[in-house]
Formats: sequence, C-alpha cells, structure tokens
Amino acid sequence: MSRSISQVERIVPRRGDWKAALARSVTDPDELCRLLELPGAVARAARRAAGDFPLLVPRPYLARIRPGDAHDPLLKQVLPVEAELAAAPGFSPDPLGEASATTAAGSPCPGVLRKYDGRSLIVATGGCGVHCRFCFRRHFPRRDLGPGRWPAVAAHLGTDPSIREVILSGGDPLWLDDRTLGRLLDRLAGIPHVRRVRLHTRLPVVVPARVTEELIGHLTRGRPVSLVVLHVNHPAEIDEAVAAALARLAGVGIPLLSQSVLLRGVNDSLHVLAELFERLVDLRVMPYYLHQLDRVVGAAHFEVPVKQGVELVRRLRARLPGYAVPRYVREVPGEPNKVVLG
Ligand SMILES: *Cc1c(COP(=O)(O)O)cnc(C)c1O
Ligand code: SF4
Repeated sequence: MSRSISQVERIVPRRGDWKAALARSVTDPDELCRLLELPGAVARAARRAAGDFPLLVPRPYLARIRPGDAHDPLLKQVLPVEAELAAAPGFSPDPLGEASATTAAGSPCPGVLRKYDGRSLIVATGGCGVHCRFCFRRHFPRRDLGPGRWPAVAAHLGTDPSIREVILSGGDPLWLDDRTLGRLLDRLAGIPHVRRVRLHTRLPVVVPARVTEELIGHLTRGRPVSLVVLHVNHPAEIDEAVAAALARLAGVGIPLLSQSVLLRGVNDSLHVLAELFERLVDLRVMPYYLHQLDRVVGAAHFEVPVKQGVELVRRLRARLPGYAVPRYVREVPGEPNKVVLG
C-alpha cells in the first residue's frame, strides 16, 4: 500500500544528497545494460547512437526502470538507439531557432530569450540532471552561461518594465546549487517590475533529493513569487520519493504545474496519460501543458501524429475533470504564444 502524504513528507533528504546522486549518474552504456540486465547489443547500439549527446541517467531514475525490459517507458526516454541516426525530413538541429536567439549574435542579451509578451526566459545553465533523447536542446552547445553573466542579464531585464515574469530554464535551472540559485534570485528580486519567477525543471522528478530545505527557503521568500513547472512524462516516473519531494513543495504553498511531451512508445495511450494526470492532481500538481514533440534531429521516432494527439486529448476530456487535462500545444517559431492543437 502506498503511504499517505503526511508519512512521505517526513522523508527529508540530507543536504548534498542530490549532488552525490548526480555525481554517480550512469554514463556508460555497458554499465547501464549490466545494471538493467539488457543484452550487450543494446549497449553497442547506444554507443553508436549517442553522438554528441551522451547517455546520462541518474541512479534514482534508473531504479524506476524495470530490469530486462528494453521497452520500459522510462528507459526509452534515456537510452540512445539506432533510430536516432536515421534521416528524417523536416527535422532540424535547432527546430525553434533558439541556439542563435540566445547567443551573442542573435540576442540583445546572450542567455535571455524573449519570445512572448511580458515573459523573458533565462538559460540559467547548460547542465541537466538527465539526458532525454527527445530534447530539442540536444544539439546545443552545453555552455554554462554562469553567474559571471548575471549582472548583465539583470541589467538587461531591469531596462524593460514590460517584463513581469522571468522563466528560469536551461538545461535545468535546479542543476545549479542552492547558493548559486539564491544569488540569481537575489538579482531578480532587485528588479521591481519582475513579479514572478517560474522554474522549468525535471530534477525533482529524476533526483527528488534535489528538493532541499534550502531550495524551499529560496522559493518561499515572497518576492518575486516562485512557481515550479515540472517536466514529467509517465506515471512510473513518480515513485514515493518523488511524491515526497512534491509534497514538500506543495506543503509550503509553491504553485506546482506540469508539462509533458507526447512521446511514441512512452505515453501515447489514453490509459497512461489519464493515470499520469490523475496522479499529478492527487499530488497537488496542475497539468499545464502537453507538448507536441519539437522536430529535432534524432527524435523523429518519438513523434506522435498531431491527429492522434488531438484524439487522445479529446478522449481524456471525456474521462477526467476539466482541470486535469493539460493544454495540448506546439511551439511555432514566430507565433505570439504557444499554439493550442485540436
Ligand atoms: C513556453 C515558453 C514561455 C512560456 O509560455 P507560457 O505559455 O507562459 O507558459 C516563455 N518563453 C519561451 C521561450 C517559451 O518557450
Ligand atoms: S531535462 Fe529538459 S533540458 Fe534536460 S535533456 Fe531533459 S528535456 Fe532536455
């Protein structure tokens, strides 16, 4: 039987646990296959397919993968496979044109992306807790913008009073340690017109010990108000430790939203999506976005046709309360907002 929220809330990680977990991440395909009892051919294919986006799986995530099952939905998200090497017309290295938009040549301020009204996105770090094979940033230089850039970033944001919300992205902004993140939040707190900071992160899902007391302290300071958007794709990603981490965040009143990517062979079924969204609501996370895959080279085998996605969402609406069904969206370069599908 699963434990109640009050019981799981008491599983509090020790400071530094998450860094130790990240340092022990599995990066060698042979080791992955040994730990998961998969044949050597799987490891050899992974080595060929990894390219410039190496295998990276933290052990708390690995522990949720079923040994001996090459079709496990969590494994599929992290295991390089030969399909990544197949040519796919319409797929590009930078489908959203973000690489140039965040570098010195293409941006008014490197590391800041201003696509939508009132909101600026900061690439806070290139680091991630896990390498998702479908990631649209998989071909970006994993350059860490680093604290050295932040005075310039803050100065830039300070000149534009129309920016009311700052989105911290990456990579994964929670890849930064608490002290560094605290300094970034201090900078943002010094800009009077920035009312909200939103963190887009997958780390509480892959390494739940990342939700430390110190982090919660930073996120509950008052101004700017912090919101957390969790990237989660499958109900099996949510084990007891993840539930406990989410309970710690929700328990102090931090608004929690989720985003998921619709992925072939992972979550392209009514049953899996319904279970995912209901489980999130039960953990006080409101399903926000279901993303159509960005068409990045190497991820074509994950694509679900939009028509099928629209049909899935229609059936979800019939089955779940309205608030449990996220908006099914795609990003279209040049549009003033994400485009709702269906
Ligand atoms: C998705 C996104 C946002 C936020 O959009 P919302 O619809 O407010 O969630 C902002 N900037 C960029 C670059 C984005 O991709
Ligand atoms: S955690 Fe997010 S940014 Fe990092 S690889 Fe996965 S999808 Fe990409």
